[in-house]
Amino acid sequence: MQPFSYTALPAKVVFGFGTIAGLGDEIRALGARRALLLSTPGRAAAALDDLKLKLGDLAAGSFSEAAMHTPVAVTERALQAVAAADADCVVALGGGSTIGLAKAIALRTDLPQIVLPTTYAGSEATPVLGETRDGVKTTQRTLKVLPEVILYDVELTLDLPLGVSVASGLNAMAHAAEGLYARDANPIVARIAEDGLTALARALPRLAAAPRDREARSDALYGAWACGMTLGAVGMALHHKLCHVLGGTFGLPHAETHAVVLPHALAYNAAAAPQAMARMAQAIGAAEAPAGVYELATSLGAPRSLAALGLPPEGIAQAVALTLADPYWNPAPLDAARLRALLEDAYEGRPPRVAHGRP
Ligand code: NAD
Repeated sequence: MQPFSYTALPAKVVFGFGTIAGLGDEIRALGARRALLLSTPGRAAAALDDLKLKLGDLAAGSFSEAAMHTPVAVTERALQAVAAADADCVVALGGGSTIGLAKAIALRTDLPQIVLPTTYAGSEATPVLGETRDGVKTTQRTLKVLPEVILYDVELTLDLPLGVSVASGLNAMAHAAEGLYARDANPIVARIAEDGLTALARALPRLAAAPRDREARSDALYGAWACGMTLGAVGMALHHKLCHVLGGTFGLPHAETHAVVLPHALAYNAAAAPQAMARMAQAIGAAEAPAGVYELATSLGAPRSLAALGLPPEGIAQAVALTLADPYWNPAPLDAARLRALLEDAYEGRPPRVAHGRP
């Protein structure tokens, strides 16, 4: 056993079908009585109105402008809604965008958060907040943004569109993949990461065949939690850095960008992290990790090309420069020519080439 250091994060997690019925009790258990409900615009009518009815007087107001990458301008409007409602807690119903808004409010107000995740992004299990101001995304890690309660209700995910489910599931798998070769990896988190990879690799093909398969939805949501716990516990590397640059600078969609880049980032790191690759391959039931993830993504109809996601051709050189200007730790040394080759493959939608990773 290698020496390690591990700090566990506090969390209350409730997982199951119909757990939303306990939301009122969770609000009261926090000592709160006036919840501000948060969602994206698209979920306001469908999900939030139903929640307001369920909560009755505990729902003091709602704000439905959550947006990807947590723009500070949106947070400032949400703070006005907090004040207008005299809210004493926030309830986020949605994916990483909505949960990001809850975290941004908590950072500024210390209000407790109850989050009901409806995608597989995993933000609910991390003390990390990324915010965008004037087109620049900055990330911080603080326990102030870690949600107090996670209510996983599988029912809320049954209608998540298949395309979002697949991209989001691969986004989650990326957290676990990088967790296995993290500089501060540890045996507990590695087991959690493997569990998350296995759950999602098994669930996503079942969802592709039957998107409302309740067992598959349940497995996928559990996998998302395990992968999110990994993201919250250990540092991420090249894959997350690239996606951060591509999303922050070129506005590429978050989960889809993860889905495209992951096999290529794994190929880049394959030679430098052979044990992690072997564990990942075993967890997803593949002969080797980069090709296994690529084949899984292809079979699920996930996006494969950065060009199709909207990256301009000149963006490749800019993304390489930005990645090298402020790098994350990575198992394989960062090299401009190999990064360029990685991004060119991802741009074109070619299969990953493990030779990139040879130091
Ligand atoms: P998202 O929250 O933007 O959701 C994607 C789309 O799906 C939205 O239009 C949303 O309204 C819709 N949607 C969500 N749940 C639905 C459901 N059940 N049924 C129908 N539609 C539904 O996307 P995401 O990928 O979950 O989150 C991306 C954001 O989260 C990014 O800003 C990213 O930076 C952030 N994130 C943060 C962390 C962290 O630890 N801080 C981790 C992962 C992601």
